[in-house]
Amino acid sequence: MTAAYYTLGCKLNFAETSTVGKQLAAAGIRKAEPEEQVDICVINTCSVTEQADKKCRNTIRRISRQHPDAMIIVTGCYAQLNPNVVSQIEGVDLVLGANEKANVTKYIEKYRKETSSRDNERIFVGHTKSINAFIPSCSKGDRTRYFLKVQDGCDYFCTYCTVPHARGRSRNGTVAEIVQLAQEAGAQGGKEIVLTGINIGDFGKSTGETFMQLIQALEKVESVERIRISSIEPNLLTDEIIEFISRSKRFAPHFHIPLQSGSDDVLRLMKRKYNTSLFAEKVFKIKSLMPDAFIGTDVIAGSRGETAEYFEAGRKFIESLPISKLHVFNYSERQGTKAIEIAHRVEPRESKERSRQLIELSQHKIEEFYRLQQKTTHDVLFEHTKKGNKMYGFTENYLKVEANFLNSWINRLIPVTLDVFNEKELCFTI
Ligand code: SF4
Repeated sequence: MTAAYYTLGCKLNFAETSTVGKQLAAAGIRKAEPEEQVDICVINTCSVTEQADKKCRNTIRRISRQHPDAMIIVTGCYAQLNPNVVSQIEGVDLVLGANEKANVTKYIEKYRKETSSRDNERIFVGHTKSINAFIPSCSKGDRTRYFLKVQDGCDYFCTYCTVPHARGRSRNGTVAEIVQLAQEAGAQGGKEIVLTGINIGDFGKSTGETFMQLIQALEKVESVERIRISSIEPNLLTDEIIEFISRSKRFAPHFHIPLQSGSDDVLRLMKRKYNTSLFAEKVFKIKSLMPDAFIGTDVIAGSRGETAEYFEAGRKFIESLPISKLHVFNYSERQGTKAIEIAHRVEPRESKERSRQLIELSQHKIEEFYRLQQKTTHDVLFEHTKKGNKMYGFTENYLKVEANFLNSWINRLIPVTLDVFNEKELCFTI
């Protein structure tokens, strides 16, 4: 039998799809080649915004049309949150929730035994409170990086977020399990690992360990040259962690610290666990120890309760910080979240306008960051993708570098002085 895999959403989903693939491979189900007709399609969905939900529905429809005879299995956050909607989509055979994702082969077996498919029980989605499965996983990305899942779920329940409903409470693998996966990735030639999770800084809750212990242990994995932390909440990014990274040989000076709003009033409505002064403190601490560090952040535009004054205060706050890039999201109303009880609602047009302003601000910031890095020397990890006669790679502080293609540079760290800034392509050319 053959299977095809489709992933929507975050890096964590990608890592998890690869784990499902390994399960099926162990059961003798081979990964199909592109264009091959398949027996099973696994679609791992995302539900971060309304747009993401829509994209999932369209993808499921498209794939079931492309593979009319295949068993269509839908799992992931959208399946966990909307199992009935998913099961009604033409062609869907099985809907598996977050816990059940860890046991896909068992449900395939069960489904195949019970022959009259349409009347079978087709939805296996446990209650959010029962979600407790955790399988550490490591997947090779489409470039040279490996994505190492270290944690899942979240206990924070920020008012706008559905993640704790879709993925359950915070849990993680043990430090020993994760170190072993990192060693395996290194042995396979993986030079760079990205630690992924939902609320990574919360690592250790379920095993009695700490995130600090995890990074100290990973620092000793000599076969891996570079480790990035995909994202960490500002209140969990301790000075101890920042100081450790500033001395580290392996952890990159590359931070992603979600801010969500630069207004303390909005942060309170969101029930975030920090205020703007704590966030600023972290950013300045990083910059004082690692002046070249890349600092990215997430910001939501037009969230419930964000008045024009709050937005403007937030925008000014962000402008004042040495942040390198913003990931701007338009607020998306999610059923089942507390945010929809907040009275003040931002008109979609106004919300779009705020996004536009933040994206413009981000563009200024990233260009400024690149300019400040001109003439500096860094190690670039080049990737295998060839575009025309060019190849691309990233420095430890996440600057994109373009070079003439050289086979011998693929997956190697090459020291490079950054001279020519290509503003249009946002990269350095060497
Ligand atoms: S920290 Fe808040 S925004 Fe992030 S996943 Fe948890 S609930 Fe959602």
